[in-house]
Amino acid sequence: MKNFDDNKTYWNDGGKHQESYDILMEALVPHEGKAKTKEGEVLRAVTNITYDYYNNGNCNIAHKVNKPCHNEDCFEDSDECMWCGGDGTVLSNPRISNDHWASQLSAIRYTVPNITDDLDKVIQLIKDPEKHYNYAYDGEEQMLYENLLNKCIEWVLTKYTITEEPRVIKNKLTLH
Ligand SMILES: [Zn+2]
Repeated sequence: MKNFDDNKTYWNDGGKHQESYDILMEALVPHEGKAKTKEGEVLRAVTNITYDYYNNGNCNIAHKVNKPCHNEDCFEDSDECMWCGGDGTVLSNPRISNDHWASQLSAIRYTVPNITDDLDKVIQLIKDPEKHYNYAYDGEEQMLYENLLNKCIEWVLTKYTITEEPRVIKNKLTLH
């Protein structure tokens, strides 16, 4: 994608709503465990999902799993099977790996209005068998995560107004 600037991503602390995002994360998302609000849970989920892409190549959120070989003749002469090489199983396309990750995705899907398209594009990337563990980290991929983050943050900002940020007030006092 042309005109995409890597520095303008949340991953590089340069997201569209970076300042608000940082403040909201600190206020609503604990360092460990679940958040107390649904807004915090959405931020926690979208942050975890993005982290797994950038830091782990989505190796936690999606796995390929063994499934029975789809070759009908496999059982007769499995050593010659060009699909499984005689193992009787082949790897599936990537799937969301467990309930933990499925619930993170659901927290976003069923909480944030009009998020379906943006979320499904990220899931499509996560489940892409060609890109699995082999991402380009180009603008095309990164924009999917930026769009998802922007939508989630913009929704949280309809619930919270950042005017009296305690941390800023405290910092001002300590300057004296
Ligand atoms: Zn086979």
